Amino acid sequence: MTDAGRRQNTLPYLGFCYHSAFAKRGVLLPTRILSGSAIRDQIYAELSSEISALASAGIRPGLAAVLVGDNPASKVYVNSKIAACEKLGLASIQVAPPATITTSQLLAIVDDLNRRDDVDGILVQLPLPSHVDTKKILEAVDPAKDVDGFHPLNVGHLVAGRPTLVPCTPAGVMELLRRSTIPLDGANAVVVGRSDIVGKPMALLLMHANATVTVCHSKTRDLPATVRRADLVIAAMGRPAMITADYIRPGATVIDVGINRVTDPSQAENFFANFPERLAEFRAKSTALVGDVHPDVAGIAGALTPVPGGVGPLTIAMLLSNTVKASRLRRGLRTPTAVAVQR
Ligand code: NDP
Repeated sequence: MTDAGRRQNTLPYLGFCYHSAFAKRGVLLPTRILSGSAIRDQIYAELSSEISALASAGIRPGLAAVLVGDNPASKVYVNSKIAACEKLGLASIQVAPPATITTSQLLAIVDDLNRRDDVDGILVQLPLPSHVDTKKILEAVDPAKDVDGFHPLNVGHLVAGRPTLVPCTPAGVMELLRRSTIPLDGANAVVVGRSDIVGKPMALLLMHANATVTVCHSKTRDLPATVRRADLVIAAMGRPAMITADYIRPGATVIDVGINRVTDPSQAENFFANFPERLAEFRAKSTALVGDVHPDVAGIAGALTPVPGGVGPLTIAMLLSNTVKASRLRRGLRTPTAVAVQR
């Protein structure tokens, strides 16, 4: 292992690693590890007091989760969202129709949830079975209860820079950047990935925060050179460890949205070569999570989100935040400034 690699492993518990590029020149600069879990806890503490204040006014915000069929990954996601609601004292309802449900039967379920006064937020867990018209279902959700921010009306508000319900993952990234005081005004931001759920709303939020935004995708020419120009990189491609250290300008901030499960030992050897503890953990469990950013980027970035423990925890926090926000807006109450992204 290199000296820089060894140093990377000595101080992660302090929230810092060291830039290998500078280490080669005899200068050590710390890479700041941006903990999403710590920020999630701050957001939960703020939401708890907001929820208590609503409770004293007789209001208990409620989230309805629609889980179609028995996709194991979807079940895990929905269970963790419901568990988070319970932890914070929000009401939660789970509707779990079988995978054979038709589009019109599912539309009837959404319609019922739209009408229920005890439901402030509706999430339809994706993906839906291929025979169900996903667009039709997402468009049927009352925009005022659309806590995932997927309804075209909310998307339009986001494009226009108006207050709205913003998709949870990019909203979580904005909270992380804001609370970590990463400068965005005039920053060159490169978003890799252009999905409706992550890349596109992420680019819009950064543009509204005065960053100069480049959006990359699978047809982008010379991706490494484009990413190397960035002060801020957002990686959201679903490609394990694809953004390697040579894509990153030393000192840049790197936000890793990707969550990929690795089970191939040769991949794990490559990804964790400089991280013996993670490699040992992989060997013990035969599985590990890795982002879209190679772990060695910790040796060159100025600031970096870890995987796990970076963006992931914030996605659920923003879902709860959107539910509380929706419950206030539906009742014509003002929204406090605690969680401020696009409010
Ligand atoms: P999608 O598959 O919907 O979109 C992937 C995007 O990446 C596409 O725009 C695609 O380009 C682009 N892309 C794919 N391969 C390349 C490549 N080789 N070079 C450049 N661009 C490429 O993924 P999502 O947006 O839904 O998710 C992205 C990642 O974020 C995944 O790892 C997912 O697990 C994770 N995720 C994490 C969440 C969290 O809570 N932390 C929440 C949601 C997602 P094109 O459009 O040209 O096909």
